[in-house]
Amino acid sequence: MAFTLAQLPLSPRFSLLHSRFWIETLPTPMPAPHNVVLNHTLAKELGLVLGEDDADFLLGNRLPPGSQPLASVYSGHQFGVNVPQLGDGRALLIAEFCAPDGAHWEMQLKGAGPTPFSRRGDGRAVLRSSTREYLASEALHHLGIPTTRALAMAGSPQAVWRETRETAAVVTRLAPTFVRFGHFEYFFYQGEPERVSELADWVIAHHYPQCRDASKPYLAMLEQVISRTATLIAHWQAVGFCHGVMNSDNMSILGLTLDYGPYGFLDGFDAGHICNHSDETGRYAYNQQPQIGLWNLHCLAQALLPLIPRDDLLAALGEYQTQFEAAFAEQLRRKLGFVTWQEDDWTLITDLFELMQATHTDWTLFWRSLSHWPLQQNIAELRDLFLARGEFDQWLTRYQSRLNDGITPEQRSQAMLAANPKYILRNYLAENAIALAQQGDFSEIERLHRCLMQPFAEQPEFAAYATMPPDWAREITLSCSS
Ligand code: AMP
Ligand code: MG
Repeated sequence: MAFTLAQLPLSPRFSLLHSRFWIETLPTPMPAPHNVVLNHTLAKELGLVLGEDDADFLLGNRLPPGSQPLASVYSGHQFGVNVPQLGDGRALLIAEFCAPDGAHWEMQLKGAGPTPFSRRGDGRAVLRSSTREYLASEALHHLGIPTTRALAMAGSPQAVWRETRETAAVVTRLAPTFVRFGHFEYFFYQGEPERVSELADWVIAHHYPQCRDASKPYLAMLEQVISRTATLIAHWQAVGFCHGVMNSDNMSILGLTLDYGPYGFLDGFDAGHICNHSDETGRYAYNQQPQIGLWNLHCLAQALLPLIPRDDLLAALGEYQTQFEAAFAEQLRRKLGFVTWQEDDWTLITDLFELMQATHTDWTLFWRSLSHWPLQQNIAELRDLFLARGEFDQWLTRYQSRLNDGITPEQRSQAMLAANPKYILRNYLAENAIALAQQGDFSEIERLHRCLMQPFAEQPEFAAYATMPPDWAREITLSCSS
């Protein structure tokens, strides 16, 4: 049996936490709602049916019966600075429900109006930023990367001012929970250790039940968060995803990719790539992400001081680097098509990165081409991606001599094609979809979404999405203002 949004059976969890955690806040209605895109595939998995007349719900003009929307309070370290209070400034938790498989979901409307935590913001999101969040969260999910999900997007002609006049759009996003490191930080710095422990108990009960029976449950929870964060960032690095604003309030307690702002996928490889133009020092550059993950985990660990002895915290944090390296090695092993990872492989990969850096070799095209190499020996195609061709030839010879691990070229190529996507959400593809959407044509969002649902499949009808980006792609600038 499938439910409509008007019949959604509510099953509160987060809203059962102490009222210090949230403030009831109603969405602010907007005129002339229309659907932009509905994710029917996800809806089906969740036992939901979405219809053309759901725009009222998806914009926040109407609520599922019994819904008591709320905005939660959190804080966090933004660009290294502790900000005492942030909170859901434009996201509202409108429902918590169970899917047919028993999974529990929190449903938020992002951009549904101001909240007590909006500070100087308008509580809105624009069509441009909402399209980016919708497409990227679904793209990452289908790449196998943990992330919040996007169920739908609705729009209104209501004007929203950013650098220019834009229009409003709201993403309906889902996650098992939207709890962030910053939720813990807020109560720690407010001097409310009883709320820190209440939240930790809640997170363990609902999201890390296996930690309940550990001899030190809070420490076991932190170890899980550390491990998931390390794995998440290894995934990002492997696919060339730059988050752009890795503030501790944007870090999920479940290790999900959370809060899509000025993110970017690498086109040409540049280890120091900064996708967010507001990030002047490159704090969140591509090659900084792994250590920023650890920095943020320190923020979380600090907030858990009321619950976990300092030595235990430090020992747990001390495991991060090893875990990240193991997770990244696993990603690289799959990308390179090796059966096992050997210590020497670090030299091979470091040398490859140096060659790629020198030419800004296209990250996605290179790996996809290399995936064909075991079978097709497509040397010309690969060499064309490098300026220093002689050096690349030498690298390829070393790579080839490493491929003596007992599997056939067919098996290797197949495994690599399942690890190296053909389709990623390049910035310019999102920009094209946004430009059309701003003229009222949402078909390109739909089409791009369809392509990105099978990033590893050949999909000849979408071949144009898998070519080198046009020159103007380099001129795209992204900032926090969305
Ligand atoms: P972000 O940089 O997107 O992670 O946002 C940091 C904080 O600013 C969070 O508390 C957001 O809810 C809030 N925020 C961002 N944009 C807006 C907006 N347009 N209106 C209100 N609050 C916002
Ligand atoms: Mg945020």
